[in-house]
Amino acid sequence: MSRSIEVNILCPYCGFGQVVSVYTSVNVTIDPELKEKILTDNINNFVCSDCRKTSFVSINLIYHDMKRKFAVWFCPQGDMSEEEKEALKKVAYSIGLGHYLYNAPKAYTWEEFKNKIIECEKEN
Ligand SMILES: [Zn+2]
Repeated sequence: MSRSIEVNILCPYCGFGQVVSVYTSVNVTIDPELKEKILTDNINNFVCSDCRKTSFVSINLIYHDMKRKFAVWFCPQGDMSEEEKEALKKVAYSIGLGHYLYNAPKAYTWEEFKNKIIECEKEN
C-alpha cells in the first residue's frame, strides 16, 4: 500500500507556509504509475501557493516492489536513528515483509535512489 502524509512546509523561495501532501511509502505493485513519477522526478514536489515556484520535499520515502520482492529507502536526512529503525522493524515484520523491507538498501540522494531502483529491477 502506498501512503502519503500531510506536512507543513515553508516554501524555500518565499518562506510561505503551507500544507502539502507527500508520499512516505510507494508500492509500485499496487500503484505502478508512481514508479514513473519517481523516475521522472514528479513526486513529492509542490507548487507554492504564493510565489508559484516548484520545490522538492525532502522526506524519507520507501519504494517497494512486491512482485520483484525488493525495496529501496530514500533517506535524505542521513541514516535513521536507532529508534526509527526499531519502529520500522516492527512495522515491516507486522505486515509480513520484514525479510526484505528491513534490509532494503538506502540511498541518500535522489539520483542514487533512482539508480538503486533501476539496479534492483535488473537483479530481481
Ligand atoms: Zn513560495
